Amino acid sequence: MNPALRHDYLAALGLETWVARSAAPSPPVSAPTGREAPAGREAGVDWPELKARVAACTRCALCSTRTQTVFGVGNPQAQWLVVGEAPGAEEDRQGEPFVGRAGQLLNSMLRAIGLAREQVYIANVLKCRPPGNRDPSASEAAECLPYLEQQIALIKPKLMLAVGRIAAQNLLHTEVTLGRLRQQVHHFGLSRVPLVVTYHPAYLLRTPTDKRKAWEDLKFAREVCARV
Ligand code: SF4
Repeated sequence: MNPALRHDYLAALGLETWVARSAAPSPPVSAPTGREAPAGREAGVDWPELKARVAACTRCALCSTRTQTVFGVGNPQAQWLVVGEAPGAEEDRQGEPFVGRAGQLLNSMLRAIGLAREQVYIANVLKCRPPGNRDPSASEAAECLPYLEQQIALIKPKLMLAVGRIAAQNLLHTEVTLGRLRQQVHHFGLSRVPLVVTYHPAYLLRTPTDKRKAWEDLKFAREVCARV
């Protein structure tokens, strides 16, 4: 990426003052965290069929409070798959993940490492909004995860970026804190897709002092993807 352009994106993140002196360490590779995800129950479906199944899904109680399902958006052949927790109010209204201020920050974070939003695929662990933006229950996540597994089977990403504690813990089936999950290479489920963890942009909007750590995570993820 053009250095001036990158500077502009980093400035939007409030990161331009320390980028030059930050040096990412060589990525350590962790042992797999927790048990592996169960095999998807939607094996063998194509995109239209999968989208239709999600749109009509009544597997958990969230179907009764959603405005619409939020399937995912982006390049179906992306190298990067960004996975968040669940739709919020605006996502529930628009039917697209990571819109609004958090979505704009995610776009800037991706731009800072040379990726346009359209180049990656963006999805959530849950396809329906939990009322009041409460944390998803374990059973809701378990019911919905097979849809994400099938999306992964179709996309075949080189790297998954789990944003936020809830997404990371559900994807890795662990209760380890986000702080301890960062800066390691995990692997997702049976597909063993390399997975890196970072902060949710909504959290970074509330806690801008952690943007530096998020930038370190993004550089780390870029290095991991380059090695795959
Ligand atoms: S959250 Fe997932 S499992 Fe629950 S109703 Fe929505 S699509 Fe179905």
